[in-house]
Amino acid sequence: MDLSVIIPIYNEETNIDELYRRLLSVLEPMVLANGFELIFVNDGSRDRSLPMLKALAARDLRVHYLDFSRNFGHQIAVTAGLDHSQGGAVVIIDADLQDPPELITDLYAKLGQGYDVVYAKRRSRQGESYAKKLTAKVFYRLLARITHVSIPVDTGDFRIISRRVVRTLRQMPEQHKFLRGQIAWVGFRQTFLEYDRAERAGGQTGYTYRKMLSFALDGITSFSDAPLKAATLMGFTVSGVAFLLMLYTLYSRLVWHDYEPGWASLMMSILFLGGVQLIALGVIGEYVARLSANVRQRPLYIIAESDLPAPAPGPEPF
Ligand code: UDP
Ligand code: MG
Repeated sequence: MDLSVIIPIYNEETNIDELYRRLLSVLEPMVLANGFELIFVNDGSRDRSLPMLKALAARDLRVHYLDFSRNFGHQIAVTAGLDHSQGGAVVIIDADLQDPPELITDLYAKLGQGYDVVYAKRRSRQGESYAKKLTAKVFYRLLARITHVSIPVDTGDFRIISRRVVRTLRQMPEQHKFLRGQIAWVGFRQTFLEYDRAERAGGQTGYTYRKMLSFALDGITSFSDAPLKAATLMGFTVSGVAFLLMLYTLYSRLVWHDYEPGWASLMMSILFLGGVQLIALGVIGEYVARLSANVRQRPLYIIAESDLPAPAPGPEPF
């Protein structure tokens, strides 16, 4: 198999047929001696997506589907696709046609020039709310500042990766996936192509603000210890100030004999200290929660139904 295309699907009934048509019109003219496969991962859709995928798979032997037992999230859906893929190169693409399938030709050609990762960088984004664009922009720049891994800004998961990157990813079992970070972390030769991100073709975004926030936290906690360090720093600063105030209090009580029973300053320091402690605890909590999820070692996803055999356990042979 030369090329696998992985498509996570969450309530995409309005886009599947059009996506399939456009993917074929791009992939069929490509010179692929060993063919390609399309792996659709149905991430607990509540619409007609699954029967549509099954119909496609029955009609076209190059189409495969994995059906999750429930909604596990976009990153896990892509991970499942990677686990089941066979291709020497693997493309990750959204189902809503925001990532133009036509770019796959260029991505594949670029990969052939000796790269292991070619990610698609958004030159512009259409049809997305101002708030979404702004939060994304701020988040990617913040993340770039606080992490040692150089995660490219303004890129989603739309990209092509080589088999050896897939192999490496399959050895990274973390529960809270942040694939674009993991792929950056893997290394090898990486480059990018630019494109203009289109509007969603049909349907609605599956990424609620809640999912976006937890995705952002996964990215930060997986690739940076900066929040923990910031909590420590804050703790030291506040303790330092508190210590000076303590000296001052003792001095005025014992030497100066000039003090007022002041509840205002007392209240303020208690509230301030309490706030700082809670923030620090919360930050630690975010890391501990993810740590404990990894310790539990639950499977990342559960497949209810598929036309593909389960991948062999353990690392892929090199
Ligand atoms: N998706 C998924 N599981 C989810 C949410 C989304 O598999 O819980 C899929 C969705 O079908 C699409 C891709 O992930 O193919 C990107 O999602 P979406 O377009 O909703 O996100 P946005 O582009 O708005 O960030
Ligand atoms: Mg989208």
